[in-house]
Amino acid sequence: MNPFLERLARPEILALRAYDVPRRTPETIALDANEFPWSPFGEETLATLNRYPDHPAPELLGRLSELYGVARTSLLPTRGSSEAIDLLCRAFCRPGRDEIIVTSPTFEVYALAARLQGAGVIDVPLQRERGFAVDPGAIIDRCLTTSTKIVFLCTPNNPTGNLLDEEALVSILEALAERCLVVIDEAYIEFSGRPSFSARRERYPHLVVLRTLSKAHGLAGVRLGCLLAEPTVIDLLRRVMLPYVIARPVVEVTLRALTPEILETMNKRRACLLRERTRLAEALKIRTGVRRVWPSEANFLLVEFDDVETAWERAQRQGIAVRRLTSHPGLDKALRVSVGTPEENDRLLEAWS
Ligand SMILES: *Cc1c(COP(=O)(O)O)cnc(C)c1O
Repeated sequence: MNPFLERLARPEILALRAYDVPRRTPETIALDANEFPWSPFGEETLATLNRYPDHPAPELLGRLSELYGVARTSLLPTRGSSEAIDLLCRAFCRPGRDEIIVTSPTFEVYALAARLQGAGVIDVPLQRERGFAVDPGAIIDRCLTTSTKIVFLCTPNNPTGNLLDEEALVSILEALAERCLVVIDEAYIEFSGRPSFSARRERYPHLVVLRTLSKAHGLAGVRLGCLLAEPTVIDLLRRVMLPYVIARPVVEVTLRALTPEILETMNKRRACLLRERTRLAEALKIRTGVRRVWPSEANFLLVEFDDVETAWERAQRQGIAVRRLTSHPGLDKALRVSVGTPEENDRLLEAWS
């Protein structure tokens, strides 16, 4: 156990034990969990649905540990990385006393999870004039008290699409050692050329990395994410997580989607998506009424318009949904556009021609 990380957690959480999930082998006669002894289904994959899932399933842990290159003890599968964000706030922030740091404009779930927990949210905005760069000095200055528990950083950032500078992230990690958790959300990292920060966890026990299968693996409907952290953090979060949340069909489908053949197909599609990202950005830049297309390292583009309402309505009229960003201060003239299939992107370009 890491004593600093234990001190950082809420005392109530330290006093809890993780829910005791029964451990069984396929031969076990399982009369210990009040399950129904027959499954409603006959087929092989569904035949065990009368049984609660393992928590977490060993095959899933094994596969994710290969995929992300970390030990099983440093990995926690969650219901999307959104659940990981919620667990972090609940395990580390005392209601009415602690706070998190976010860098707007960014993913709104960080602030939502903190507020649900009754924690404060301090905003240290990204610097728009520097391409939405992170300001390490300002973040470090805001972490002066022990009530700041978590800094959330998103790279590539949603909704701006840029990677945060590596040196800036390292200087934040160095300065905040033994002070708070630094969470690096890499939901879109597969669309950038950048390796994951998780390789640096040995050096920085206060580093937490979030990964998800929702974006580059095309499994948003499955709801599976992954938190990579020091085993002490994993152990604390498992006490907060309700038992049995990763359903058997989720494990089943995930294992099927992470075979070498499917990974290869998805890599090809990702390469296609990146070509489309360039094509769409270039085409949009020369459209009249488009003020700016921000460079993107993710699977979406941030596009600013002279008249954002008209652009939004024209897309809408063609049955194309794009994201308004009016809730993000300073982005009221922008839309966030996910890169689609070549045909879908053509349709969007037509709507805005
Ligand atoms: C989409 C997204 C996620 C992933 O959410 P899931 O709950 O895993 O689907 C996490 N962080 C950011 C910044 C995102 O945009």
